[in-house]
Amino acid sequence: MFLQGGHLIAQQQDFTFKVIPLGVYGSTHESNLSSYMLAVKNSNDYVCLDAGTIHDGIDKALDEKTLQGGAAHILRTGIKGYLISHPHLDHVAGLIINSPDDSSKNIYALPFCINTIEEKYFSWKSWANFGDEGEEPLLKKYHYVSLSEGLETALANTAMFVQPFELSHANPNKSTAFLVRYDSSYILYLGDTGADTIENSDKLSKLWQYISPIVQRDQLKGIFIEVSFPDEQPNDKLFGHLTPGLLFNEMKKLSSLTGKKNLQNVPVVITHIKPNGNNEMLIKKELAQKNDLQLRLIFPQQGEMIKL
Ligand SMILES: [Zn+2]
Ligand SMILES: [Zn+2]
Repeated sequence: MFLQGGHLIAQQQDFTFKVIPLGVYGSTHESNLSSYMLAVKNSNDYVCLDAGTIHDGIDKALDEKTLQGGAAHILRTGIKGYLISHPHLDHVAGLIINSPDDSSKNIYALPFCINTIEEKYFSWKSWANFGDEGEEPLLKKYHYVSLSEGLETALANTAMFVQPFELSHANPNKSTAFLVRYDSSYILYLGDTGADTIENSDKLSKLWQYISPIVQRDQLKGIFIEVSFPDEQPNDKLFGHLTPGLLFNEMKKLSSLTGKKNLQNVPVVITHIKPNGNNEMLIKKELAQKNDLQLRLIFPQQGEMIKL
């Protein structure tokens, strides 16, 4: 029993970041859409990576006892800011719907994303303007922090920093990858993205080049990346998303830069499955079959903590 206890403690200490998924899917289940609370171990100062679902995810995390306290308190004081990859509804609906109950905080995004949130959602025609820019009157609950590619920005009221990278999501539409740093440890969260081959883009290839030394130094603690459709999805119906085959093509490119062994140390969290029909089962099966790189794949569950 002592050994078991000792083992448990060793496991719990051996991580840097904790992630609580508030929502994991890319469509259909409106109470379970892309949103990941991220904090450093031993801290309750979280940011949300995307904000498709907030309230129902907090409720689920309270049921699972991965969060403690009241849902309203966690929304207002636990979440210190939002990092929004792109303005599709499945990534912002929870932020908009919960805004009347929220407290004042920052929204971090690239300018293309802030512009759409400001023009289309926090405008008086579709909701109240809780932002500090756009259509007047401005309620100024949220402060937009416009990120610049290649520049690191501090995440206020946390010990973390973020560096954004532009992604191609049904070219010319854009999305964002966030490289979050705490001390010398990193998490890479990709919003929706297509494969370079399909998008006629080099965004992922540039990202892999940037992070490969971080992987080689064993400082990357996890990659969050989408697989929206099974392999049978035709190339002209991908709408800027990945399949298992396309994910592994990209991971092979990364692996050729980092070395296979180094990449195997990095857990890969599969996000944004579109769970129509039996797609979820199919995607998991195809990922297992094609995992020649022997990557550690994690399938996040709403409310269940992931330690990285
Ligand atoms: Zn999406
Ligand atoms: Zn999208």
